[in-house]
Amino acid sequence: QLPIPRAQVGQVVAAVLAKTTVHVPEPYIDLATYQAHGGYQLLKECVDGKRALESVLKTMEDSGLRGLGGAGFPAGKKWRIVRAESGPRMMAVNIDEGEPGTFKDRTYLERDPHRFLEGMLIAAWAVGIEAIYIYLRDEYHGCRALLETELAALRASPPIEYMSQIHVRRGAGAYICGEESAMIESIEGKRGLPRLRPPYVAQVGLFGRPTLAHNFETLYWVRRILEQGAEWFADHGRHGRKGLRSFSVSGRINKPGVHLAPAGITIQEMIDEYCGGMQDGHRFYAYLPGGASGGILPASLNTIPLDFDTLHEYGCFIGSAAIVVLSQHDTAVNAARNQMRFFKEESCGQCTPCRVGTAKALTLIEQAHWNIALLADLSAVMRDASICGLGQAAPNPVDCVIRYFPQELTDATGAPA
Ligand code: SF4
Repeated sequence: QLPIPRAQVGQVVAAVLAKTTVHVPEPYIDLATYQAHGGYQLLKECVDGKRALESVLKTMEDSGLRGLGGAGFPAGKKWRIVRAESGPRMMAVNIDEGEPGTFKDRTYLERDPHRFLEGMLIAAWAVGIEAIYIYLRDEYHGCRALLETELAALRASPPIEYMSQIHVRRGAGAYICGEESAMIESIEGKRGLPRLRPPYVAQVGLFGRPTLAHNFETLYWVRRILEQGAEWFADHGRHGRKGLRSFSVSGRINKPGVHLAPAGITIQEMIDEYCGGMQDGHRFYAYLPGGASGGILPASLNTIPLDFDTLHEYGCFIGSAAIVVLSQHDTAVNAARNQMRFFKEESCGQCTPCRVGTAKALTLIEQAHWNIALLADLSAVMRDASICGLGQAAPNPVDCVIRYFPQELTDATGAPA
């Protein structure tokens, strides 16, 4: 029951937002500052033919830049795939950033928005994009104000003669709308339900057209990679991995925040070198390597390279690189319960294994004694039969507790739960 008539909700929200002071972090790079430091020169060089399209595509491929929203699909390869489809082509930029623990896109957007916008326009030029739709998390009021201000400045003095149309669309707080096909449904004005694939969005995406879907951060790196070369980016990796990753780190460490670190860094190296160690009174116990959906690992597995493809054998994945560090004051069981509550709430309800499975799993793991055989069956069904990544990944935390934290499932007498 709303305390005001439903028809007045929009007016009230607008009035509150009008009084909201937008916090602008320092340093903030506006259009004039960005251009004073060579901003948009690269875009001009591309459009003016001073940079060959093939060399741009090859540099992107050689850099090894992958989709940094979580899926990790090679960015340069995606550009070629969409470019090979017949036009008109569309672009959908995902700034929904709903994965719990992830705040890297917001951090960059509210400091250096034009670096992202230039990368986006270069991608649009390389792929031949007709129109761009930016899908922004609605909770990011400040980011929206900044983005709209900077877009207005850009439209007022466009750096190139023909700029693709750029539209900003607000999300509505649904985690599932970070999934690319659900995001596209939402941009089209429909309920955010993930689509069955094939066809992939690169073939049939926004408004039925071939669509280049990218996460904010993927586009944020385009300028630096093209200016400094593929090797510059690729040479940063550790433990056999390539590139840089922006880790959103939170939890029981001294320095939470976005830490730009080599791909493949281990959790121990991250805590020691970037996070100022554990907080006083806290001993490293466990960590979430990829937000709510990437599973839970014990501190004993502290030498695994953190990157795409390196965590699968442990039943985990890095996703958008949101790391949550837990200590002896936390339990993996409670973390798993918290995450399953979240998935139950955020399931779009379209398919039964996820809609019913998350609710059933939550009921089972909220009990003092876990029915491990039944949970294993449920996980297998959810993983195999859910339409999208939410339902497929939702069992990860539960499976990890069973696999890595059996001591938490043993009651005080030592009997298995
Ligand atoms: Fe919706 Fe869950 Fe099915 Fe995905 S897996 S389509 S979120 S019900």
